[in-house]
Amino acid sequence: MKVEFVLGGLNCAHCAGIIEEKVKKMEGVDSASLNFVNKKLIANIKENENVTEQIGYIRNIIDTTEPGLKIEVLGQGIENNSDRESKSESCSCSSSCSSCSTEADKSNSSIFRVENEEKLKIISIAVAIILSLSAYVFKSVLENEIVANALFVVAYLVAGYEVLGDAIRNIFKGKLMDENFLMSVATIGALIIGEYPEAVGVMVFYSIGELLESQAVSKSRKDIESLMNIKPDVANLLVDGEIVQVSPESVNIGDIIVVRVGEKVPLDGKVIKGNSMFDTSAITGESVLKSIKKGERVLSGVINKKSVVTVEVEKLMKDSTVSRILDMVENATSKKSKTENFISVFAKYYTPIVVSLALLLAIAPTLILGEPFSKWAYRGLVFLVVSCPCALVLSIPLTYFSGIGISSKNGILVKGSNYLEALRKVNTVVLDKTGTITKGTFEVSNVVLSDGVTEREIFEYAGIAESRSTHPIAISIVKYASGILEIDEIVDEKNMTEYEEISSHGVKMVYEGKEILAGNYRLMQKFGISYSESENSSTKVHVAVDGLYLGRIEISDEIKAGIAETIDKLKNIGIERVVMLTGDTGLVAKEVSDIAGLDEYHANLLPVDKVNLLEQIIESNGGKGNVAFIGDGINDAPVIARSDVGISMGGMGSDAAIEASDVVFMTDEISKMPIAIRIAKFTSKISWQNIFLAMGIKIIVLFLSVFGLANMWLAIFADVGVAVLAVLNSLRVLNEDYR
Ligand code: ADP
Ligand code: MG
Repeated sequence: MKVEFVLGGLNCAHCAGIIEEKVKKMEGVDSASLNFVNKKLIANIKENENVTEQIGYIRNIIDTTEPGLKIEVLGQGIENNSDRESKSESCSCSSSCSSCSTEADKSNSSIFRVENEEKLKIISIAVAIILSLSAYVFKSVLENEIVANALFVVAYLVAGYEVLGDAIRNIFKGKLMDENFLMSVATIGALIIGEYPEAVGVMVFYSIGELLESQAVSKSRKDIESLMNIKPDVANLLVDGEIVQVSPESVNIGDIIVVRVGEKVPLDGKVIKGNSMFDTSAITGESVLKSIKKGERVLSGVINKKSVVTVEVEKLMKDSTVSRILDMVENATSKKSKTENFISVFAKYYTPIVVSLALLLAIAPTLILGEPFSKWAYRGLVFLVVSCPCALVLSIPLTYFSGIGISSKNGILVKGSNYLEALRKVNTVVLDKTGTITKGTFEVSNVVLSDGVTEREIFEYAGIAESRSTHPIAISIVKYASGILEIDEIVDEKNMTEYEEISSHGVKMVYEGKEILAGNYRLMQKFGISYSESENSSTKVHVAVDGLYLGRIEISDEIKAGIAETIDKLKNIGIERVVMLTGDTGLVAKEVSDIAGLDEYHANLLPVDKVNLLEQIIESNGGKGNVAFIGDGINDAPVIARSDVGISMGGMGSDAAIEASDVVFMTDEISKMPIAIRIAKFTSKISWQNIFLAMGIKIIVLFLSVFGLANMWLAIFADVGVAVLAVLNSLRVLNEDYR
């Protein structure tokens, strides 16, 4: 059973990681993921466990790891625990400091408290600065050292009372080495050795940094949330001719809803009255309005732009496109990239190592070489100030989440940061033909009949046989057949006694006792039926009834618009090889491949051949890069699953294929591929920039301080300044143009 928690006031990325780890390891829990950006923890509790009990355990984990969060349990009808106070400044992760902030948590009732806290902080910073300035005046102008120092101490307390208080509180909770503790030790140390202005400076800048950091985090959270703002609030349910506004969750399959102009379609369904234009950009990333007519399917999340339509609901809220997208994006954070994993491991060791070095630096030279203690103690204190990996712990997950968010804005669903990383390394793109490069909407171009057979006859049998198949070929034959006869009325499920869809061959059906075959030459050979052929580039569907050959239907498909440009773009961004795999004949394959400008193609493949070929391609690539496979999911789910990055089409792909794939293109167009790769590359670039920025500056400052060349001012910049810069830098992922 899935239980969702909202952790109000969660501002500590590192604590989030620890909570997730601990919940994952619980015996009663199958899997868990905590999304730092929307503060949601999703835990899957095992079948036969007591849910209330498990929820209690999870609460306990959250409370002990990060005390003071406002925990809400969603979706299970379990009461919200409103007596819990939200405490915004609570970052008390044990193993390392990170990203404490006083972000205004707009989503809960503590908004006023938090805002007041922010105001208080700003005021105390201002007061501390004024006090320090007067201290300077006393020191340098009035030359009154004692008053000056007293003023510095007061300024220090004003700026740092919160940090000091938290540090003391956390000591009692057994949480040494958190950020507050380190800052307190560093500044108290500075006071002891007489570096008054430094002590105040560290506290003041630390507080300013925290404020800026929390602003930046909350800005990026808001940006990402607005990308995800696709969930409809209400459905206009038609009940006895009257419109009743209900929540989309309560609408059933088969219900009729009305969507007025300007409204979001709440659930997936079929338009049964009216035609209109729809803004699908939230789902597909396409800004061009899409026309949807009576009888056509409409996806939830699109906005009606032109005239009112009536829709018959085909899917429950939880299975509708919007929910599927949100689910995928929310769960995406649980599959972490190598970079993110590296950072969380790194954060575990970084702080203790730097703190130990600080101790060593402060004590060893005095003990061994008899150097003056205060000189080396100062250097050690500088170490303490830079001992926090906040910049990384906060900005790297934010960068990847932004990457996933912007992808989804562009109609590309990436199911995990690890796939974003995998996309970046793609150097070979393998494509399916039908439905991927071509539209998959075949048009009948020619019919060649055996003697004595009529066109009506061949389409009647072909139409009946194909009526069960979802293959694009089948759909177009049924459509064409319906144009000449009332196929829907002719076909009666009761008369079908046997049906088999033989992949990459065609279909076999026993209808009213007659065995109908419809498929390619391979199907005819399989059943020992002699057939007629012709040398042209159309796809042929041969039809036979009870072993008698009726003739062939020649159909041709259209290549999707812009394929050649897309292939060009792929080449431009470093894709070395583009290969097409198809079950269709060589002639058709060659024509398509020539028009699209592919490097190579392989035709006449069975699904198993496709897997084998893909494996060969992966092998010949020799680990130099990743191999992506893009398919429509019909007959190619195994290949999607086998590739390094499996990509399916969200609009037309089968559920199985969407399930098996790592990335889903909502528009069924491979033109999303270059965009996806660009996003992946940029995301990775930004995360590496942040790593180099943060680590580079910290290491430089550490080195300089060993030789006495760095002071605390520089150290505090290396800590909070860099954290703010890194968070702001990760926001660039959301603002880049990837087209
Ligand atoms: P692709 O690899 O181009 O996507 P498939 O593997 O889905 O093609 O199908 C390969 C071939 O098998 C088709 O070109 C067609 O000749 C035949 N085929 C598959 N399904 C059907 C069907 N339902 N009716 C007729 N022919 C079919
Ligand atoms: Mg296919």
